[in-house]
Amino acid sequence: MADPKGFMTTPRQDWPRRPVEERVRDWNEVYVPGALLPIINQQADRCMDCGIPFCHDACPLGNLIPEWNDLVSRDDWRAASDRLHATNNFPEFTGRLCPAPCEAGCVLAINQPAVTIKNVECAIADRAWEEGFAPPSPPERLSGRTVAVIGSGPTGLAAAQQLTRAGHTVAVYEKDDRLGGLMRYGIPEFKMEKHHLERRLEQMRAEGTKFRTSTAVGRDIGAAELRSRYDAVVIATGATAWRELPVPGRELAGVHQAMEYLPLANRVCEGDLEVSPLSAAGKHVVIVGGGDTGADCLGTAVREGAASVTQLDIYAQPGAGRDEDAEPWPTYPKIYRLSAAHEEARDLRTAPAADADARLFAASTLHFTGDAQGHVRWLNLVEVDAQRRPVSGTERTLPADLVLLALGFSGPDREDGLIDQLGLELEPRGTITRDAEFATNVPGVFAAGDAARGQSLIVWAIAEGRAVAAAVDRHLTGSSELPAPIGPYDRPMVV
Ligand SMILES: Cc1cc2nc3c(=O)[nH]c(=O)nc-3n(C[C@H](O)[C@H](O)[C@H](O)COP(=O)(O)OP(=O)(O)OC[C@H]3O[C@@H](n4cnc5c(N)ncnc54)[C@H](O)[C@@H]3O)c2cc1C
Ligand code: SF4
Repeated sequence: MADPKGFMTTPRQDWPRRPVEERVRDWNEVYVPGALLPIINQQADRCMDCGIPFCHDACPLGNLIPEWNDLVSRDDWRAASDRLHATNNFPEFTGRLCPAPCEAGCVLAINQPAVTIKNVECAIADRAWEEGFAPPSPPERLSGRTVAVIGSGPTGLAAAQQLTRAGHTVAVYEKDDRLGGLMRYGIPEFKMEKHHLERRLEQMRAEGTKFRTSTAVGRDIGAAELRSRYDAVVIATGATAWRELPVPGRELAGVHQAMEYLPLANRVCEGDLEVSPLSAAGKHVVIVGGGDTGADCLGTAVREGAASVTQLDIYAQPGAGRDEDAEPWPTYPKIYRLSAAHEEARDLRTAPAADADARLFAASTLHFTGDAQGHVRWLNLVEVDAQRRPVSGTERTLPADLVLLALGFSGPDREDGLIDQLGLELEPRGTITRDAEFATNVPGVFAAGDAARGQSLIVWAIAEGRAVAAAVDRHLTGSSELPAPIGPYDRPMVV
């Protein structure tokens, strides 16, 4: 740390967002371009270079945070890039999309705002691209071993990059027409512009990774055939089987799953469609589900020009600060957070009948009411107590022409037949069973990411991809020098 008193003299300053009125008229990222670099050295200098850096433990990748904070504060961007890429294949993704458990675990956060770790990460990653600090890194020699990776989300991409760099010949099979998994068709452009994804994919192609898009394993190519063609197979197919809302009126037209809605909006941004067939333009939109997927629907509906947008959360509104007994530092607390989408909803007053930021907390959907044509028009809800019991007399009705269900995901989708064709064992909750070496019950077949862990985060997906790559490398060669930041049973820090 260049200034040992930085944490006392410099207040936290985040990457500023563009004005709401401006940013909701386009799909670009919400941040002010170029506004991060001028502030970031000083922000990195707030790092205390702790003897026991809890930020590091709170990150599943084991990112070397104090080291790169120090290097940034000293303006040594090349070394910072080396240290960052030593633990994270895709820091430009996590630098934009991660909810930053590292910041919740930052020692400074005990009694002050945490170091802006995520912003520092993003600044290093972007600068590394601009200055060419992280060129393609093809292997010096090939092992002669082949690996098929099924799924091109962050898990599959991280596994493929690690295995390719280790000298194996890797092909990634993806059922969608484009690569990236949920980062491509789930996460909206305003959270991460897709050119960041394209740039990494180009790097991976230059390193030798092969990609086969529009190929659903199990449907377009038999899973057993694929297994027989490769020395090892990594299943990284995600957990996209969505949860349902079995209430009267669910069958009405206009009630859709979030992941039916978001991909279409992303396809408009990709130039595939002029207008989304499910566009929220002019409609009263209600989003059922208080999580991040719901917030992505909110930001998307606002940009599409919805007449109103309300988001329902079954949980009570969390407090502004952490509950020190239930979720003490350094765990990741459930506190009231105002995402960029909520800020937009608040400033534009998108939900006159809801709280200021468009959310209705402790709200449970009772049923939907439709018109004579079978189209949803109203959503009926009731307030619930902490045990989710309805509070009588609190029933109310919201106008709803478009209802988006964002209730989470239960496990991998079985429609393609991959799981059944291979005869994979599953956990009771539907995720793929694997042992301590990420191996499934089928010899040579490994499972990683949301498909095996369950619905998670990009930072965990990248950690899974790196760890499964080490396990596959060991399986193929008897030993591995690839890093394995997590084991299959590791979980986020809790009390
Ligand atoms: C709307 C939304 C927003 C999110 N926002 C964030 C965020 O801001 N920050 C964050 O950290 N996390 C976020 N997440 C979670 C994060 O995206 C996931 O945890 C992560 O993408 C999981 O990575 P994965 O590679 O395991 O799976 P996925 O990203 O789901 O990728 C799996 C891939 O496998 C492919 N596939 C499936 N079956 C087959 C088959 N049979 N053959 C070939 N290909 C197949 C799929 O098409 C898909 O491309 C979000 C999730 C959603 C749904
Ligand atoms: S815990 Fe916070 S202050 Fe300490 S090393 Fe990590 S980022 Fe720096």
